[in-house]
Amino acid sequence: MNFSDEIKQQALVLGFDACGICRAQDSEQGTYYRQWLSAGYQAGMDYLERNVDKRIDPRLLVPGAKSIVSVAFNYFPSKFLPDDVPQFAYYAYGLDYHEVVKNKLALLFDFIRKHYPEVNGRFFCDSAPVLERYWAAQAGIGFIGKNTLLIIPGKGSYFFLGELILDLELEYDTPPISQNCGSCRHCLDACPTKAIEQPYVMNARKCISYQTIENRGDIDADIQPLLSNNVYGCDICQKVCPWNRFAKPNRTPDFLPSEEFLSLDLAKLQAMDEDSYRHIFGRSAVERAKFSGLKRNVEAISKTRDNSLLL
Ligand code: SF4
Ligand code: SF4
Repeated sequence: MNFSDEIKQQALVLGFDACGICRAQDSEQGTYYRQWLSAGYQAGMDYLERNVDKRIDPRLLVPGAKSIVSVAFNYFPSKFLPDDVPQFAYYAYGLDYHEVVKNKLALLFDFIRKHYPEVNGRFFCDSAPVLERYWAAQAGIGFIGKNTLLIIPGKGSYFFLGELILDLELEYDTPPISQNCGSCRHCLDACPTKAIEQPYVMNARKCISYQTIENRGDIDADIQPLLSNNVYGCDICQKVCPWNRFAKPNRTPDFLPSEEFLSLDLAKLQAMDEDSYRHIFGRSAVERAKFSGLKRNVEAISKTRDNSLLL
């Protein structure tokens, strides 16, 4: 077994669900990415406009980088909110994933350092300008679907992605180019806001995930009536994806939703004060929207419900 295989085996031992390795090089996504920015599809996420060169070429982010070890970590829940209450994206059901995944990446880095003490590198999980889905596909973990998410054949798309970028030469995987969406377009058709402008092109401004999480102002007036009971994030384009028939519940105790979370309904969310918000979401990814953002979202879906009752 070569050392690259040992890294991948150790990643599985640590609880990652997939691991692949590719060369750190210019992604050649610069033209496409800059066109996407010029179209304004990043909406208010100004950070996507910064460090573009580093995002396109990881060797500028981590000087001397030679390899990217890409990992995927399952977050598909084992328990769910009832369908008739305001919905939270599955990834936000448990403890904040940044902490959980980065702790595991740190252990994988330690393993590599034990064999190569001189190795330099950094690891990330949604925490730096890195084209995570692109590199995961390059590392052979899966393919990017028309919904722009990384799909792992036989496992689906409910995965956090992370990567170690190292100045160590390794053996590289081959992308599984034979897998793709074929003629399917369920995600494009099911998206309530038509945020997937065309296959593989996401207009974040129209996306419920952007509007309910990243948007710091009011929810855009044309999107608000289309929130479809999503109070934090949106999984519709994943729920309809045939590949997610293969999704299996995660085995991470930190991702288990609390009973208090699972008992939330619209009335409880409307009545929620900042203390109970901190109690339920203090260590959750929902913190990104902050108390004020969650309350804004609750008000927005309440209005939608009120209007639908009037019809
Ligand atoms: S997350 Fe929801 S709003 Fe965003 S593209 Fe998917 S289905 Fe559309
Ligand atoms: S729903 Fe269909 S088109 Fe969309 S990502 Fe899944 S397989 Fe691809």
